[in-house]
Amino acid sequence: MGGRLTGIRVAMLGGDAREIVLLEELLRQGALIQVGGLPALPARDGCTWYDDPLAAVRGVQVVILPVPGVNSEGRIYAPRSEQPLYFSQELAAAIPGGTPVLVGVARPFLKDMAAARGWHLVETADMDEMAILNSIPTAEGALMLAMQELPITLHGSQAFVLGLGRTGFTLARMLAGVGARVTVVDRGAADRARALVEGWRAVAFADLAGVIGEAQVIFNTVPDMVLTAAILAATSPEVLIIDLASAPGGTDFEAATALKRRAMLAPGLPGKVAPRTAGLILARIYPALILNCLERH
Ligand code: NAP
Repeated sequence: MGGRLTGIRVAMLGGDAREIVLLEELLRQGALIQVGGLPALPARDGCTWYDDPLAAVRGVQVVILPVPGVNSEGRIYAPRSEQPLYFSQELAAAIPGGTPVLVGVARPFLKDMAAARGWHLVETADMDEMAILNSIPTAEGALMLAMQELPITLHGSQAFVLGLGRTGFTLARMLAGVGARVTVVDRGAADRARALVEGWRAVAFADLAGVIGEAQVIFNTVPDMVLTAAILAATSPEVLIIDLASAPGGTDFEAATALKRRAMLAPGLPGKVAPRTAGLILARIYPALILNCLERH
């Protein structure tokens, strides 16, 4: 089958429903895929399944790891695999220096290995195109959690969004769309101005303590400690806090427990609430990324 990835040899290790959508798209575009740690699909031209990840990476030009990557023990995220999948030294040695290695989020284990072996490690989750598109399932998931947990409708509620970045903006828009009264808290004057243009109340972090008591639901997107014990103490006892920022989040969860505030860290929403959409986002971005990486290589 012809396509812009024709003949490019790619290894895919681990993953979930998202990577299966991606696999289908890469095959459609002509790539030759060696797969480890995903359940076998019906026989397809251009696709070979291996039990041993070492066999899957032999002779490939690009390695694709799942969005959550590899944990601190070297275990590759592979919930569909019958066997645990490890990024062993032997596996690493089979990937030549300079090979593009694509992963959503790279933790120190993988970063160290990539640096030691000279791979071209590409972290895709923080790329603007990916983060902006992923903000849609993230925001939908955040609203879903709020609807499940709150005894009130979001419509008419006092909803606070901390951080008007890629996720915060989409979330604030969706909240406004369902009729919430949106307050955006951001450290940047320009972003606060943008919030005002959208018709939302805009507050600086310096002024947060004075208004946070009004919030019925707080969504945090700031990956830094912003919901401190002092700020939490000023919140309403009925407030719900949904922290979307990457672990450990931006909430003092110990203080929240001590103050009896309901606070939850909600990681990985795109893959949980909309795996097919999240897979389509990968499928939209990865082909061009692979070509760019190989051109530069
Ligand atoms: P982003 O576009 O970089 O937005 C982050 C926001 O936080 C920006 O408004 C930024 O302000 C602000 N910020 C950062 N450090 C701050 C500090 N010390 N004090 C005050 N504000 C600060 O990031 P994003 O793509 O929206 O992602 C936000 C977080 O959500 C990340 O941790 C990301 O990993 C996570 N995430 C989670 C999910 C999920 O499913 N839970 C999904 C996607 C992303 P400036 O613009 O001034 O820097």
